[in-house]
Amino acid sequence: MQKVEKASKTSMGSLSISHIERKAVGNDKLRVEFTLKTAQKEAVLWYLFDRSLEQYLCDDRCDTAVTALTLAAMKYGYSSIESEYPISEKLYYNLQYHVIPQLYVGGDRRISRIKIKAPLTSEVFHGPLVATGMSRGVDSFASLYEYSENFELKEYRVNALTYFQAGAHHGFDHDLGHGTESRLELFQHQLQGTIDFCKENGYPLLAVQSNIREVLLESGLFLEKYFDRTHTFRNLSIAMLFQKGIRRYYYSSTYTLNDFKLTLHADMAYYERWLIPHLSTGSIEFFQPNQDWRRIDKVEKLTRFEPCYDHLQVCLIKTGNCGKCMKCRRTLMELDAYGDEALDKFKNSFDIETYKREDRRRWFASIVEDKEKDNSEAHYFEESFLCAAEHHPELLEYMEFSKAEGIHHVKPLGRRINIRKLPSLKSDILYIASSRDLLKYVGDRGPWIAIETPDGERAYIHKDFAELLP
Ligand SMILES: [Zn+2]
Repeated sequence: MQKVEKASKTSMGSLSISHIERKAVGNDKLRVEFTLKTAQKEAVLWYLFDRSLEQYLCDDRCDTAVTALTLAAMKYGYSSIESEYPISEKLYYNLQYHVIPQLYVGGDRRISRIKIKAPLTSEVFHGPLVATGMSRGVDSFASLYEYSENFELKEYRVNALTYFQAGAHHGFDHDLGHGTESRLELFQHQLQGTIDFCKENGYPLLAVQSNIREVLLESGLFLEKYFDRTHTFRNLSIAMLFQKGIRRYYYSSTYTLNDFKLTLHADMAYYERWLIPHLSTGSIEFFQPNQDWRRIDKVEKLTRFEPCYDHLQVCLIKTGNCGKCMKCRRTLMELDAYGDEALDKFKNSFDIETYKREDRRRWFASIVEDKEKDNSEAHYFEESFLCAAEHHPELLEYMEFSKAEGIHHVKPLGRRINIRKLPSLKSDILYIASSRDLLKYVGDRGPWIAIETPDGERAYIHKDFAELLP
């Protein structure tokens, strides 16, 4: 198991938020700066945005900096975060009595159980905005789909969108490497797409640039390498900076509570369904949208949500979609699993013709193996596989099984072994076989063996319960 970056054997002392300042940048931008100090070092955490957002700005308190930094400060070993600027009373209560104790447990009680020392303010705001992030990915559009004009509670409908630079724009795919755009270019180019979407659909946009990534990684005050360990704090703390305007904020997550896992060694999305409501400040409330929807369910909503057809942006490595990286592949296969008609709706977001010509067959050829691998991508393949079986079964005809030389028969191992319609433990059982049956071998891939039934139909048996025979 990977270790938390730095355990707190010796205290690093206190981290102070010593100064908060609002500065003009040119005629039309503002920057809010939080000066951070320790006994040895100093750094500035800043946020840059259009002056038009000044009406929503809440820089009379330290909520944003405290929320952005608490977990990283605990891991680095600080004993306290101190500030002469006040913190919202409810946020203080939530952090000190709920979030920090549980993060301490998540860090195996070996990180600092940090204290927040700041005056409290009970002054709250009642802003007009109900917002969610709009990166134009599957989660963003599923959230907007859910909370647009048809949502039953008017006061909960989204009426503003946000776009934050919090460190997500890394431009890297495990197999393809880095794209050609820098982090800043990715942010700026993709922001432009979101600006276009907002104009087209009449939503005000709160776009904010920040150096939170650099502060956490390069300032010498912390050592927080991984975006996925702190992304919820990074993003929600930016929303807090505008809590005079934003009263509700939705932050979409990959996981439901049955995936819950409190650990600091993995993506914090595993525990954010608990965390997110506990970051409410009294002025801004945080929620997780999308109910119990899995990724494949969100994609289904998108196929019925016209505003997103031309704007979907999922690619890991470039502005627009490369059609080849892990996220593009996942999304194309998911859309395709709902049928050609669903897929073709996204022809202005992806090069659908190239996908059909170059990738569709080979990606579905290996899906049986890919969905059974021990990696974080596998369960998405399983969802696409089951969805295709229901909505686009022709795709599963591309599945390829290799034939082991000299093998002609398959013997079930046991008295009651399931013979399935498809190579999935979630697939229908066609019949029960036993070790007295000798099945006709077709081929095998991953943990599945394809056979031919006595009726001449294709069926599948799991390798754990079968022996291959000449
Ligand atoms: Zn891509």
